[in-house]
Amino acid sequence: MTDVWERCPKCKSDQVVTRGKLFYFLIWFAAGGCLLWLGLLFFWPLLVVGFIPIVVSLFSFMKAKVNRCTACGHKWKP
Ligand SMILES: [Zn+2]
Repeated sequence: MTDVWERCPKCKSDQVVTRGKLFYFLIWFAAGGCLLWLGLLFFWPLLVVGFIPIVVSLFSFMKAKVNRCTACGHKWKP
């Protein structure tokens, strides 16, 4: 994690967090999984909707890491 960390290029703050792709992958995958479960149990069209976050999670897994400054909200690639 620390190999890509750097100060915010915009405001020089050190309040910078690195969001790994695994983080986004898990978020989207969990969202898709919940929708798929709800679709199976209650409402079948949710099965179709649930596939969208799954696909997004796969794409986010291929994306590079992103640094985000919590002071000014600036995002950039390390
Ligand atoms: Zn900043």
